[in-house]
Amino acid sequence: MADQEAVEAVSEILARVAPAGVSIEPAFELAAEGLAARVIPTRPAVVRAYLAPADSPGTASAVERTRTALGHLQAFGLRPIGDLETRTLDDEDWATAWKDSFPVLRVGSRFVIRPTWRRHRRLPGDEVLALDPGVAFGTGLHPTTRLCLQGLEAWADEGRLGGARVLDVGCGSGILGIGAVRLGAAEVLGVDVDPLAVEAAAANARRNRVARRMRARTGSIPSGAGPFDLVLANLIASLLVELAGLLRDELRPAGVGAVAGGRLLASGIFEDRERDVREAFGDAGLGVVRTRREGEWLSLEAERLR
Ligand code: SAH
Repeated sequence: MADQEAVEAVSEILARVAPAGVSIEPAFELAAEGLAARVIPTRPAVVRAYLAPADSPGTASAVERTRTALGHLQAFGLRPIGDLETRTLDDEDWATAWKDSFPVLRVGSRFVIRPTWRRHRRLPGDEVLALDPGVAFGTGLHPTTRLCLQGLEAWADEGRLGGARVLDVGCGSGILGIGAVRLGAAEVLGVDVDPLAVEAAAANARRNRVARRMRARTGSIPSGAGPFDLVLANLIASLLVELAGLLRDELRPAGVGAVAGGRLLASGIFEDRERDVREAFGDAGLGVVRTRREGEWLSLEAERLR
């Protein structure tokens, strides 16, 4: 159990002894009569790591090292971290345990993220995205993904998505691109430097029956496929700073008269990096039109000015 502020540091410590990685399970509450869940970013999350069985060599010492490192972290003055708990899973639990941590999740006013192994009774107006997170990032559990989905809804409400060409930089599981098609985008190109993410995005696009309008390929920007009306970039602050000029170049420039330039939705910005990203965007000729926040994360929506 770790307070949101400590989650990243705790995951890092657990990951040192867990070759298969760690899972972060945010606190959630059930909504819509138990049919959906909503993440509560202010409540502590559970960070879980899977190790070799307790009687294999090295496991006991790995647990001890982890306990010590967590103790040091706590002494660092971060907000509360709960006690390290251990439990032995049998083989079957082991293979499916991680699935317990993905609820059906409601995001914004329309999106419902449904892990493929769960069921959801659709309510009127629901846009259900069926996702198999696999190894790719983009389950909807992370605040930065949710900020982007909210941004997409706003674009749809403002009439920007209908018929639009969209670029999804760092598409991960494809969650944002699939959402964009669902809300009316004519065409989405997803790019990701991780070939496994591209594979997951393509499979998820097929699963959601949007493959005709959404392609994914390995790589980054420049995409060579611009200009785009809208660009999504849920990356991290340092990459957004580095790629600001290239992101601008992917966007449709402002036209003659009152025709505005294309829009960028950039996310994955931790609050202490907000200023750097704003500055880089300003220098690149991107005018920030809106800021969205969830906890300590934020997204910036910007328009191409020149
Ligand atoms: N769009 C998804 C995933 C975001 S995670 C969502 O919103 O949930 C960020 C993704 O960017 C990762 O899949 C990572 O592999 C990819 N990535 C990292 N650096 C990149 C770069 N320079 N160009 C393109 N993709 C990149």
